[in-house]
Amino acid sequence: MQCETEENLDINKMDRFDRRFFEFLYQKSDHKKVPQKDIDEAKEWLELSKTSNKLTKPIVELFVKLKNIKDIYGASPKDIGVCEDEIKLMASKHKNIDEHNVSVGGRVYSALQIVQDANKRVEDYVSYHKTKAPSGFELQNQMKKNRIKIQQKLNMSDDEWNSYAGQIKYAITSGEELAQILEIPQKLIDDIQRVVGVFRMRISPYYASLIMPGVVNDPILLQSVPTGDMVDNKGINIEPVASDHSPARLIDQFYPRVATIKATNMCAMFCTYCLRLDHISDKDWVSSKNTYEEALDYIRQDTTLRDVLITGGDALALSNKRLEYLFEELDKIPHIKIKRIGSRIPVMTPQRIDDKFLEICRKSNDIKPLRFVTQINTVQEITPEVKEAFKKLSKVTSAILNQAVLLRGINDTKIKMWKLSELLQECYIRPYYLFNCSFRNPEFGHMRVPISVGRDIVESMYGNICGDAIPRYLATAGGKIPLHKDNVSQINESGDYLLKKPWSGEVVPYPDMSMDRYKEPYGFENYK
Ligand SMILES: *Cc1c(COP(=O)(O)O)cnc(C)c1O
Ligand code: SF4
Repeated sequence: MQCETEENLDINKMDRFDRRFFEFLYQKSDHKKVPQKDIDEAKEWLELSKTSNKLTKPIVELFVKLKNIKDIYGASPKDIGVCEDEIKLMASKHKNIDEHNVSVGGRVYSALQIVQDANKRVEDYVSYHKTKAPSGFELQNQMKKNRIKIQQKLNMSDDEWNSYAGQIKYAITSGEELAQILEIPQKLIDDIQRVVGVFRMRISPYYASLIMPGVVNDPILLQSVPTGDMVDNKGINIEPVASDHSPARLIDQFYPRVATIKATNMCAMFCTYCLRLDHISDKDWVSSKNTYEEALDYIRQDTTLRDVLITGGDALALSNKRLEYLFEELDKIPHIKIKRIGSRIPVMTPQRIDDKFLEICRKSNDIKPLRFVTQINTVQEITPEVKEAFKKLSKVTSAILNQAVLLRGINDTKIKMWKLSELLQECYIRPYYLFNCSFRNPEFGHMRVPISVGRDIVESMYGNICGDAIPRYLATAGGKIPLHKDNVSQINESGDYLLKKPWSGEVVPYPDMSMDRYKEPYGFENYK
């Protein structure tokens, strides 16, 4: 089709994206009748493209329209009476306007398509996360109602509710107490009584307020209330690693540069899948200062150590004074460069994060970086109170890291785990580890999830959610052992590795640096 082109641009200087796009647009095929409305729209965008000299939008819209007409009706621009030279000119103009010389073919025919396909991968997550994985934000109203009911039943004042001491004082420890605040069947009350003879139960009123009434296998209930499975599960208890890895009193160490101080065995609650079930199931203890001195002496003498993790039980079960002492002593040791404190208490009792504790963290973090390691397993544990506590902690620590346990019915779907990861980030926390639930204690064997399910979930995050929201998937079996899938397969004939994209399954060859070349002199060495 002949037409007037005013400007004298070289319309044949197309890149491969434009060339491919134009080939597609002008492919010969029978075409259906194109509605006049579509033709008019295409022509309107063409006119706008001609007059607009700064914006690429009209040109992009023009080509989107032409692409749709080709896709739906099989008609080329020629078939609808649009001049080829003119649209080639517009394609050339697009490239000139775009700062990075992106061609309209690249943009409309490739990039927009890639984004559309990418969006499809998260479609179900975006549509269903609120109903399939509701967070403590989405469940706020019910949680508030629960709180009112629990406070009334326990006769607990607001001040008591808002203090850690109050939360511990009114903690629920028996089936009967639980039945006061939740409607639960007598059979469950009996089973709880049977289990708490062996394993303790302790639920802070705050944590109990997160339980959704009437939900079978509510994620909060599952984590805090022992069921009959726990005593009925048969199997061999693998002995705790305690003595193999405890070179000194209170110390666990299996890495050269990191030691943990198990500063107490106390926890604000007894998680039903706890790896330390054996340590926490007897009675609470707090050590004397002398005991801590023995542990600190070990750390002072082992100059290979650089990182100390204060844990438990739960480190925040200790008093602020005790924690201050531990931080101060660690900060005085020259070879100790960084510290961590491990606690799930902000999740079970966010009231514990008081000003004094924040000040202790601020002071110590100022001297040497302090990281806070926590454990959140489900978005139902993330409430406005929890977010507030971590926001404050984020200002006085160098990082907040989450170690989740992969638990059946709690976080073992793609939607639940993606949401957990994203919401953690929004609460100033970085997903760090995801543990496969341990085989060690048969008591919680029913809570485990097959490794293949965990691998698929973690794998599904790549390329779909933020990279730094993806936890490392591990087994704990005398140290942390990676469980990720291997996306790198054997080398093909030409010496390339084959890499599999987790989000699409596409395999791409990836030429490697050859070992021979790696050993050759290079850079400034060539001028010696
Ligand atoms: C988890 C753990 C550590 C810390 O390991 P990182 O991989 O550095 O987080 C250190 N010591 C013991 C005994 C542990 O269980
Ligand atoms: S907070 Fe940690 S140590 Fe304490 S019971 Fe729960 S999982 Fe076990």
